[in-house]
Amino acid sequence: MRCVKCHSTLDLTTYLQDKEIEEGILTCTKCGLACPIIQGIAVLIDDFALYLSNRQKLGGELLLSAKSQQIKFMIKTALGKSTKNRDFSIIEKKWTTVYQKNQDSKFYDTIKKSLNFDSDLSLEHGCSIGTISKHLAKKSNKAFGIDKSFYAIVQAKKQAQKNLDFFVADSLEHPFGEIRSYRRTEPL
Ligand SMILES: [Zn+2]
Repeated sequence: MRCVKCHSTLDLTTYLQDKEIEEGILTCTKCGLACPIIQGIAVLIDDFALYLSNRQKLGGELLLSAKSQQIKFMIKTALGKSTKNRDFSIIEKKWTTVYQKNQDSKFYDTIKKSLNFDSDLSLEHGCSIGTISKHLAKKSNKAFGIDKSFYAIVQAKKQAQKNLDFFVADSLEHPFGEIRSYRRTEPL
């Protein structure tokens, strides 16, 4: 994982740990950008305040669920900077439910068949609840799924395995740094 602003390395501070890190902060060693880990999910977004500004309902829920003072403070500060924008929380929550209901649909079988190749590393952009990422992980040494929807990633995380993990991130911000060579699979 790399800083989404300057692509430098990240330092991890842990505040709460169970089987994995539940709450913490990933801080860029160069530009100082701080990205929170909340409910075990890294939110690799370059402007957390803006992210929550567009998702105030989610922000409120995250604040209620946060356990460590540091993460509570970070969410509260971000919400404090919020201006009244359109709230995407409800739409993202709705789509998470839609994807959950349809995860066994034939549509996915078709996609899975077209993704039948071995790979060292797989990355699914806009993975939602991770149905395809899970399939990619079977054929890869390491697989990741990223999506901007926190709700979707909460569900995706339930599918996480040793070689498969999920983050909240924006594909356009290159959370893994610039990848030099890859095989790109376009949507059907
Ligand atoms: Zn940075």
